[in-house]
Amino acid sequence: MSSPSVEVVVVGGGPVGLTAAIALAGAGVETALIARPARAPDHRTTALVQTSITALDALGVWPSCRGDAAPLRVMRIVDDSARLLRAPQVQFAASEIGLDAFGCNIENRFLLAALEARARALPSLRLVEDEARTIAITDGDITVELASGPALGARLAVGADGARSLCRQAAGIATDARSYPQTALTLNLGHGRQHRDTTTEFHTSRGPFTLVPLPGRRSSLVLVTSPAEAARLAGLDDAEIGREIERRSHSILGKIAPEPGRGVFPLAIETARRFAARRVALVGEAAHVIPPIGAQGLNLGLRDAAAIGELVVAARRDGRDVGASDLTDRYDGTRRADVMSRTLAIDLLNRSLLWGFLPLQSARGFGLFLMERIGPLRRAMMREGVAPAAAPPRLMRGEPL
Ligand SMILES: Cc1cc2nc3c(=O)[nH]c(=O)nc-3n(C[C@H](O)[C@H](O)[C@H](O)COP(=O)(O)OP(=O)(O)OC[C@H]3O[C@@H](n4cnc5c(N)ncnc54)[C@H](O)[C@@H]3O)c2cc1C
Repeated sequence: MSSPSVEVVVVGGGPVGLTAAIALAGAGVETALIARPARAPDHRTTALVQTSITALDALGVWPSCRGDAAPLRVMRIVDDSARLLRAPQVQFAASEIGLDAFGCNIENRFLLAALEARARALPSLRLVEDEARTIAITDGDITVELASGPALGARLAVGADGARSLCRQAAGIATDARSYPQTALTLNLGHGRQHRDTTTEFHTSRGPFTLVPLPGRRSSLVLVTSPAEAARLAGLDDAEIGREIERRSHSILGKIAPEPGRGVFPLAIETARRFAARRVALVGEAAHVIPPIGAQGLNLGLRDAAAIGELVVAARRDGRDVGASDLTDRYDGTRRADVMSRTLAIDLLNRSLLWGFLPLQSARGFGLFLMERIGPLRRAMMREGVAPAAAPPRLMRGEPL
């Protein structure tokens, strides 16, 4: 039983799917969001760059969660690799490029709650709390069969169904994948000293160890290390892991009080060979998974959501089919440079930490040295970090779709 009842169906109710659905429905596009209920609480946090916040503000989401976010005003990189060639400490201040902050760090639970509340308030958005079981694609439409039985028809499916995407599989899109010999351990913590809105990234020979401010005397930790070491640390009791974090962070935040909820995430890169095909447009981790280094993943995903929203609204305005191949081809072309350049940068940074290869160590150290010494270079890096030079989607500039 199929009802071709909506123009666009978004599959997956993570942060990217919710954002895509809100952007589309908020612009008057009849949209359904198929969201499987969450299986486990998400204790992670997300560092959002300023352009992502601008988009969430334009969508009416940010006002309900900005009070739970901490501004990120300074970023400090410390070479803690204990290698022969060590880079100087580099500090990036948002004020150097005329900004109050690079962005904000927020716990995912608050961001998701704000997105869900906004989604529920939109009349053009049909929320379907279910799981997509199968996806059938024809020349003219797409049919999503739900776990509970009925099916839903649409012109376009936005695949926001994460790294193991059913939408990607249905569209026959292959991926290029690579795993790293590393795992990220995450947890939130309280600390004795003020963080002064400063993110500190220690570069160690097993990967970055990053402390990101949360409101008050709290921070989130992403500790990238070997899988065995991550498993050992995850198994420590609170007092032991608190001491370990204080030691590794050279006590910059004083005494550490870990909060409940540790996460362990194996590091991998996976990129879809196409970001859209056959009436399916992939967004977020369905399109690209990158390691949690440099806070890029969700920021990229939000730009995907904004880009597909913009293309659909323009096609609709011109009376064109929103799932036609000219639109999906255009989406693929629009997102490729942004995704590939960030994936490459994160991959290079991570490899440069892992490899003891001296020329690579020298190149990394020299790069940081140049950034520490040459103001215009440092400022150019900061600008590229908060707002990609290539034309950002309208929502990232605070403009409606
Ligand atoms: C440790 C860590 C720290 C990170 N920190 C940052 C950061 O600071 N900044 C940043 O920008 N990014 C960060 N990221 C990346 C960010 O978390 C991801 O990019 C983001 O969560 C991806 O969101 P998504 O909506 O694409 O996918 P997901 O969050 O995986 O959501 C996919 C959703 O689809 C649902 N789904 C799947 N299949 C189906 C189906 N068949 N039917 C219905 N629903 C389905 C799932 O249940 C899920 O709800 C971090 C990642 C990690 C691992």
